[in-house]
Amino acid sequence: MIRVRFAPSPTGIPHIGNTRTALFNFLFARHNNGKFILRIEDTDRTRFVKEAEKAIHEILEWLGLSWDEKYVQSERINIYKKHADYLLKKGLAYNDKRALRFKMPKTGETFWQDLVGNKRITFKNDTQEDFVILKSDGFPTYNLASVIDDHLMNITYVIRGEEFISSTPKHVQLYKAFSWNQPFFAHLPIILGKDKGKLSKRQGAKSVLDYRNEGFLKEALLNFMSLLGWNPGEDKEQMGLDEMIKLFKLEDINTANPVFDPQKLEWLDGVWIRSIRDLKERLLKFYKDDHKVLKVLNSDKSKVWIDAARSRIKTLKDFRNLINIKKQRKYTKEEKQKAQILLKFLNLKLGDKWEDEKLLFTLKDFSSKEDTTFRKIYFLMTGKEQGIGILELNKIYGKEFFMKNLSDD
Ligand code: GLU
Repeated sequence: MIRVRFAPSPTGIPHIGNTRTALFNFLFARHNNGKFILRIEDTDRTRFVKEAEKAIHEILEWLGLSWDEKYVQSERINIYKKHADYLLKKGLAYNDKRALRFKMPKTGETFWQDLVGNKRITFKNDTQEDFVILKSDGFPTYNLASVIDDHLMNITYVIRGEEFISSTPKHVQLYKAFSWNQPFFAHLPIILGKDKGKLSKRQGAKSVLDYRNEGFLKEALLNFMSLLGWNPGEDKEQMGLDEMIKLFKLEDINTANPVFDPQKLEWLDGVWIRSIRDLKERLLKFYKDDHKVLKVLNSDKSKVWIDAARSRIKTLKDFRNLINIKKQRKYTKEEKQKAQILLKFLNLKLGDKWEDEKLLFTLKDFSSKEDTTFRKIYFLMTGKEQGIGILELNKIYGKEFFMKNLSDD
């Protein structure tokens, strides 16, 4: 049985990079009918952040990355102590002032076959220090606790970020010291910013919850994260969770560092906005405290707005801008004159019958007769550079809306 774990330290709200680790573990578990375990690694009491655990739950729950078992390391302190004692008795660990250290071998090499890129990673033992396994506060270090737990929880594959590669020789030696079989290791290449440097907050290293607040859909975030280092082949871009589960293989993880591209995330969000069936429900939820938007969503014209939005917005947040029909700026003198001419033209040709096809035909006519671009006409009619179509606005507001914009000064 394949068993994997996501083992966040609650030292802060996990950003999208850490969440990708959770996703890859989840996909691997589900693809293989295995188990996905959540383990809260809270043994570093000095860096403990209370809200972090709650945020970890919220992120996984919102994304639908459900775990099968959950453990909290601070509730397992006795287990780690017992194992540390064993090492001490065996002469494999010693006390340095008050902390307990593990004796690393000083000759030879430590290696493992990493499943990302299927390459052997080797460390010379004379570069390795004896490291602390139990601290003076009685809490184990990450290195000790994670090895003991991975063993006791029967973890078969350790899938984690590349930043832990330097810890792995310590883990391999601990497995040897306990005479335990080690799991397979797969270290995921770190995500870089667009400048190929470390991913900063400004470049996108925010939490999934921040993205949710900015109006991104969970489908788009999952899809986007999955493509950060995983290549399912056939140039696949849009994938839902079920499809990802079906396709996911560790062999298809790239060895190159993926680059975080915020524009791609936006693009994918737009793709998903066009694909989901319950856009209205998503909008209602997102704008649950925004009366102005709720009014539109609950009006009898909401369908026109939502249908128009589907092809025009990239995130739920864009919807607010779309429904804002305030004029962007005052018209210049020239524009005012043009607007007057257009108004007269429309009145003459249409009278009271501002019906869809006729209206469009008349505007086209005006465009060629007066040598005016459709863009300009749109601006004169709506007071905005872009937004939902003239016909949709006509459906929602009718003639008066355009008359007001055209004659406004
Ligand atoms: N607690 C470690 C972290 O903060 C887990 C590393 C691992 O997966 O072994 O990510």
